[in-house]
Parts: sequence; C-alpha cells; structure tokens
Amino acid sequence: SVSAESGKTYQIGTDVTFAPFEFQDAQNHFVGIDMDLLAAIAKDQNFKYEIKSLGFNAAVQALETHQVDGVIAGMSITDERKQKFDFSDPYFDSGVIMAVRKDRTDIQNYADLKGKKVAVKTGTEGYRFAESIAAKNGFTIVPFDESAQMYEDVKTGNSVACFDDYPVLAYGVNQNNGLKTVTEKEKGASYGFAVDKGQNAELLQKFNAGLTHLRESGEYQKILDKYIGSNA
Ligand code: GLN
Repeated sequence: SVSAESGKTYQIGTDVTFAPFEFQDAQNHFVGIDMDLLAAIAKDQNFKYEIKSLGFNAAVQALETHQVDGVIAGMSITDERKQKFDFSDPYFDSGVIMAVRKDRTDIQNYADLKGKKVAVKTGTEGYRFAESIAAKNGFTIVPFDESAQMYEDVKTGNSVACFDDYPVLAYGVNQNNGLKTVTEKEKGASYGFAVDKGQNAELLQKFNAGLTHLRESGEYQKILDKYIGSNA
C-alpha cells in the first residue's frame, strides 16, 4: 500500500536568479545546477516537489516558519544556520568575492572602497563578509533582495562594488554581465540542501541518498559540466 508520506509533494524554496544554480530559461522553466540536481534526486528517490522561487532571504525565512519543507538556493552551510536547520551533505564548494564595473580601474582592493557605497544581498554570506570589513575600510553597505539588483546598482555607479558568491560572479562575468573581479576570493562554506532542524528527516535522507547515487553514476558531474564545464 502507498503510505501518506510517499504521496506528499514537498514545497522547496529557492532564489530568484542565481545562475548557474537557479534561473529561468526562455520557456520560464527553472534550470541550473540546483534545479537539475533536485530533479535528478527526486527521480532517483521517487518523490514529488514544487519549486517556490521566493528569493534567497525570503526562502530561508519561509523555511524557518514552516511555509516550505526545504531550501535549495546555493545556501551555505554555516555554523549559525546549523542552529536552525539541518543540512544535507555538501554538494558544491563556494566562497565570496568582490566585483566592480568592468570599465573601472579605481577600485583594486578593499581599502579603495573608502567613503563609497557597496551593494550586498540581504541574508547572505556576502553580506556578512562585507559587513565584517566595512568599518575598517570605511564603506557603507546598500542591501538588495536579489543579485540582479546588486549588479545593476554597481553598473549605474551608485555602488562601486558588490559582494556575491564566487561561482555565481565568475559565471556572470563569463557571460559578460558588465562586471569584473579584481580581488582574490574569500574562503566560504559549501552549499547544502536545508530542512528545518529536527523536521523532515526523511526528505533529508532521500536527498543524501540521491546525491550519493548521482555522484556514483556520474550524473552529478554531468550536471556541473552542463553549466560550468571545466571550471567545475
Ligand atoms: N551562499 C550564500 C549564502 O548562503 C548566498 C546564497 C544566495 O544568494 N542564494 O548566504
């Protein structure tokens, strides 16, 4: 017989646009490393889910208030978040990096940010890092909800730089998004799939089992290659 559990459709929160991890293609389908991984894991583990494209901070809050069952959004496994959430095995290594407008030559390091505005994304590791060096380097933080809004603020020149995850900025710069990086990346936590602490152990277990299978079958690497090729 079919248990109630197996008929459940999990609600999964994610970011809006965080390529190459989640973004919409020309047909408005959710694609990217996170989306393809989740689809392949759900198929392997035989569960149903629905994607809620909420934005990063909103997705994390929705998880905390039990509006969604899980979050996959290039979400870093931090000690602070581990107090509130249970994370899957790490599936991608990341880090934070600064970006400036492509044609700028005046910002080469953090000290050059003195007296300037810097765009950050609410609730992220990039925000945390920028905040941690803001006073020392004398810059002001301007928060946004989406990475695209941050990049726009840097391109218009309101902010002189932004901080975002290295693989996302590297992908964007590679796609000619009008930005460039000038500094080294800062060490950051790996990405994991999150559920509320002590809740949804079954979903977490399925995610981990599926991830292991995909790693063994080579499908995990195929998904990475599809989006980031040899940089994976
Ligand atoms: N990896 C970063 C974090 O977890 C950013 C995630 C995101 O913006 N989607 O804070």
